[in-house]
Amino acid sequence: MKAKIAVLAGDGVGREIVPEAVKVLKAVAERYGHAFEFIAGDIGGQAIEKMGVPLPQETLILAKQSDAVLLGAVGGPKWEGLPYGLRPERALLGLREQLGLFANLRPAKLYPMLAEASTLKREVIEGIDLLVVRELTGGIYFGKPKGIETIPGGERGVNTEVYTTGEIARIAKVAFEAARKRRKKVTSVDKANVLESSELWRRVVTEVHRAYPDVELTHMYVDNCAMQLIRNPKQFDVLLCNNLFGDILSDEAAMLTGSIGMLPSASLGAHAGLYEPIHGSAPDIAGKNIANPIATIASAAMMLSYTFNLGKEADAIEQAIVKTLDLGYRTKDIAAPGTRIVGTTEMGDAIVRNLR
Ligand code: NAD
Repeated sequence: MKAKIAVLAGDGVGREIVPEAVKVLKAVAERYGHAFEFIAGDIGGQAIEKMGVPLPQETLILAKQSDAVLLGAVGGPKWEGLPYGLRPERALLGLREQLGLFANLRPAKLYPMLAEASTLKREVIEGIDLLVVRELTGGIYFGKPKGIETIPGGERGVNTEVYTTGEIARIAKVAFEAARKRRKKVTSVDKANVLESSELWRRVVTEVHRAYPDVELTHMYVDNCAMQLIRNPKQFDVLLCNNLFGDILSDEAAMLTGSIGMLPSASLGAHAGLYEPIHGSAPDIAGKNIANPIATIASAAMMLSYTFNLGKEADAIEQAIVKTLDLGYRTKDIAAPGTRIVGTTEMGDAIVRNLR
């Protein structure tokens, strides 16, 4: 396979972890006979320094013309005083909007050897392997009317939860397709006992499900789901959520697994998919070769699976991560007694060595 990958390292630890993921992708390409072309672009604070804007036109064009985008992180104290519209973080919103990224996929998987890093009991979390599929461009964050208005005796704040059949159907399809690559179970989250928008959500999801008879579908109210995620998270495979519910539940799911340096994400839409770790630029540890590159390397594995349909190669990366952790390699954030603390580059090298 030939593919063009835009590489946007960004700021802080982004500049250290992204090269490690590229290293792993290059090793995969070599071993499995693929030709990946990597093209670097500027984004975030680093782009502000060079070009005066967080998302230069060149970067946008590069992203649109690529098959997939690998992103590190943006932001840092240096740019915190800038007006909101010029901050590094604006680049992410611009990129999501311009690439039409309506689906956000966040897997939460517990690596058994890291169970102690979670705040929950080992027996509750051992074996967790779930995927939150969150609608990213609709719902209450964008619905109109919205705003704060003055009324007699005070003010009134309004937001509106809006979903169309088209928006629900396209995210439902993403969830069912994702489930087909996993354990074939979708739990659709809503509040259909109270909200009309949820009633439509449930109806459309049920309709889309007809094309996926091999996938099991259940519906769950969001309040129950929040509880079940803590009580028995192992029951879930794919969680299908609207924008608001997905925002909250994906953070809850991420916390189950303990460490922010381990969790990847994918955003999918009309153009190239965007793959990035869920953490930020970690300015407190940047430039010290101590950041954990695993979230970014696992994001690269998601790219192989979701954009390029290279399931075998994605599995190989996953297995290399597990083997490396099994051998006792740890970056500082996931270190435990008896393990071997290594730097960012050493962790990347070890994962490359452990690729089958
Ligand atoms: P953060 O995720 O950067 O860091 C939170 C904590 O987790 C820090 O203690 C950090 O050292 C640690 N951490 C994060 N990634 C790690 C890794 N790979 N290995 C080891 N430890 C890691 O969040 P923050 O400190 O709130 O934000 C820092 C900057 O990043 C801000 O400018 C923020 O706006 C930006 N940010 C960017 C993104 C993004 O680019 N997608 C996301 C969140 C925050």
